[in-house]
Amino acid sequence: LASEKLPVYAGLEDRFTLICKMGDGAFSNVYKARDKKTGQKVAIKVVRKYELNTSQDARLDPQWRKKNRVTERANILKEVQIMRNFKHPGIVELLEFSESRDHYYLILELLEGGELFHQIVKLTYFSEALARHVILQVANGIRYLHEERGVIHRDIKPENLLFESIKIIPSKVDKARPYDEEKEDEGEFMPGIGGGGIGVVKIADFGLSKVVWEESTMTPCGTVGYTAPEIVKDERYSKSVDMWALGCVLYTLLCGFPPFYDESISVLTEKVAKGYYTFLSPWWDDISGSAKDLITHLLCVDSNRRYTIDEFLAHPWCNVKDPVPNLDS
Ligand code: ADP
Ligand code: MG
Repeated sequence: LASEKLPVYAGLEDRFTLICKMGDGAFSNVYKARDKKTGQKVAIKVVRKYELNTSQDARLDPQWRKKNRVTERANILKEVQIMRNFKHPGIVELLEFSESRDHYYLILELLEGGELFHQIVKLTYFSEALARHVILQVANGIRYLHEERGVIHRDIKPENLLFESIKIIPSKVDKARPYDEEKEDEGEFMPGIGGGGIGVVKIADFGLSKVVWEESTMTPCGTVGYTAPEIVKDERYSKSVDMWALGCVLYTLLCGFPPFYDESISVLTEKVAKGYYTFLSPWWDDISGSAKDLITHLLCVDSNRRYTIDEFLAHPWCNVKDPVPNLDS
C-alpha cells in the first residue's frame, strides 16, 4: 500500500482501502480506493479545507473572493448538488459525499483509463475516426448537461475528460503494432469495440459548473424583470463557453497541439479574444474540410453565431458512419 495515508476520517477509513493516488488537481487530490465490503473500486476526490482558507484579510477582499469562488464551501456543496442528479454514460457519477473537519470527500465512479490529455501526449494526435469516437461521447455528455439539466460545465478540457479503461491503442508511435492508415479504414483500428481501441470517455470535475435557467426565466426564484442585461447576458454563464472549449478539444485531438498558445499570457489572451488561430501546415494538410468547417463554427468569437450542442451533433462530420470492425474475421 502507498506510504501516503488517505486523509480520511474514521468512517471512511473503515470503509475504504487506499490503493494509490491518481490525480493532483488544482484544488484536490484524487485517490483510487476499494470498498472493503463490496470490493468495488472507487475514486475519492479529497478537497482539503485548509487549502480553502487563506489569511482573514485576503478573504475579506471581494476581489479575492471572486477569483477564488471555486474554493468556497458553498461551491463544493453546489458541485455535489449538481452532480448528484446526473445519470448519463458520458458523465462521471457521484456515488456519495461526506465531509470531516478538515476535508470534503467526493466518492466517484472510478475511471481507470486516465486523462484524455495523456492519450494526446502519447499518441501525438488522433485519426479523424478516433477523434470522432471520443468527441461524440463528450458532446453527448454536454448535450445531456445543456439540454436536459440546464448545466454549464465551464471547465471542459482534456484533463477533465477521463477514459474508463484503455485497451489496445491504435498508436502512431506503437512499434509493436505500427499504425497503418489502410487498416484503419478497414476498421481494424476502430476504437471502442471489442478488444480494439480506446473505449468509453466521460466528463469529470464539476467544480466550476453552474446551473442556468432558460433565457425567459433567467433569474432565480421568480424575481423576473429586474435583472440587468449585463447579468442576464453574462457570457461566463452561457452554454456557449462549453462549445468553445469543445472546439479547442477537437482541434487538439486532430493535430496534437491547442488552437491558442503563447508563452505570454497577455498575448495568449489577445489571441483568444480575437479568435486568432490557424490550421497550421503541414499538420492540418491532410485533415478533412468537413472537420475544419466544424471547428470554425465552434471557435467563433461571436457567441451568438457559435454552434449549439444540437448544431454540433447535426454537422456532417459528426454523422460519418465509421466502418464497424468484424471481430470474427
Ligand atoms: P480539480 O478540480 O482539482 O481539477 P478533478 O475533479 O479534475 O479536480 O480531479 C483531478 C484529477 O484527478 C483529474 O484530472 C483526473 O486525473 C483525476 N480524477 C478525477 N476524478 C477521477 C475519477 N472519477 N476516476 C479517475 N481519476 C479521476
Ligand atoms: Mg480538473
